Amino acid sequence: MTSTLSTAIIAKRDDLIALTQDLIRIPTLNPPGQDYRLICEYLDTRLRKHGFETQLIRAFGTPGDSEKYPRWNIIARREGRRAGECVHFNSHTDVVEVGAGWTFDPFGAEISDGKIYGRGTCDMKGGLAASIIAAETFIEHHPDLSGAIEISGTADEESGGYGGVAYLAEHGHFNPDRVQHVIIPEPLQKDRICLGHRGGWWAEIETKGEIAHGSMPFLGDCAVRHMGAVLSEFENKLFPAMAARHTDMPVVPEGARSSTMNINSIHGGQKENDPDFDGLPAHCVPDSCRITIDRRFLLEEPLDQVRGEVRALLEGLRETRVDFDYELTELNSVLPSMTDRDAPVVQTVAHAIEDIMGKAPEYVASPGSYDQKHIDRIGKLKNCIAYGPGLLELAHKPDEYIGIDDMVDSACVMGAALETLLLPKD
Ligand SMILES: [Zn+2]
Repeated sequence: MTSTLSTAIIAKRDDLIALTQDLIRIPTLNPPGQDYRLICEYLDTRLRKHGFETQLIRAFGTPGDSEKYPRWNIIARREGRRAGECVHFNSHTDVVEVGAGWTFDPFGAEISDGKIYGRGTCDMKGGLAASIIAAETFIEHHPDLSGAIEISGTADEESGGYGGVAYLAEHGHFNPDRVQHVIIPEPLQKDRICLGHRGGWWAEIETKGEIAHGSMPFLGDCAVRHMGAVLSEFENKLFPAMAARHTDMPVVPEGARSSTMNINSIHGGQKENDPDFDGLPAHCVPDSCRITIDRRFLLEEPLDQVRGEVRALLEGLRETRVDFDYELTELNSVLPSMTDRDAPVVQTVAHAIEDIMGKAPEYVASPGSYDQKHIDRIGKLKNCIAYGPGLLELAHKPDEYIGIDDMVDSACVMGAALETLLLPKD
């Protein structure tokens, strides 16, 4: 079924392409967090032309914020003619490093075979562009809208969102009195609704030893062997326990429906040689060994339990293993988030997908986290989903692209959702 709004959105295909290309050509790499001001100014000029009031907000003092790399964000709001609810589209403007293996110019936004190529096309400037076209077209069609539309472009999602959505949420911009529905156009595919994400807990574990001559290791205490004991506890107890836990969250891919843990790095003993040094090692017993763990957990697992079971294994070793000593340093944590399937924004977007795409949506949750955590935990706003064009599998990869048809279709879905939420119900 094609509504008049959809027809108008489809007719703006060229505008949607040009907007996406402009956004890709601003290389907002994070790290270090460059050109945030530039992309905010671009969005500011564009959205003010369409009747939005805008605010540029710098997240002073957040990680990475400096005079050289200030953390700029934009929030634009278009007030309707009568009272009603506010629908907010939140997109992050930062992109990850380019990496090797590209056959297209990563910031050229070249078009080939119905796709736009470039870093950030799918994650997530294509989604940002689709939401802007949807909102602008909706406003042209329905200047009498009730409530309000907000569009934000935010910093640092790729590095945790502290200089972006977290900062804005701390300053009241996601207060449920001000904003009622949030759609984050991350690349979850045009016919899927992402309800939330798992949690994460990152920590460093150091085992301690005592340095001695390598020919007489019994005079020292090998920190690497102690770490071996830690890893063996993980293999024998923690990994099987995690694999046996399953969530009701519809996480994709399937493997992420259990708890998981990655050992991110390991280092013990003498520093690795620089590539231009070809000398031989000196013979020492290592007095320190460190690993970094990346533990992803389920809605059903409290964070205290996640921390507690690692600490219990380490404490167990302290009791059973001679001279075992360790230090555990927590690096960061984020809690899982999951929106109810009967929440208004979920129901509305589900119906819009059925109307536009002629099929029921698939409900998914993300194995890794995105900015929903801050909107939920800091903003206390539960009515939030990720919905947008693009394939998650292409995010952060070489030759990342966004399909132009996918952007158009998802813009139509967003437009249909706005019609449900913001038109006066006679
Ligand atoms: Zn993203």
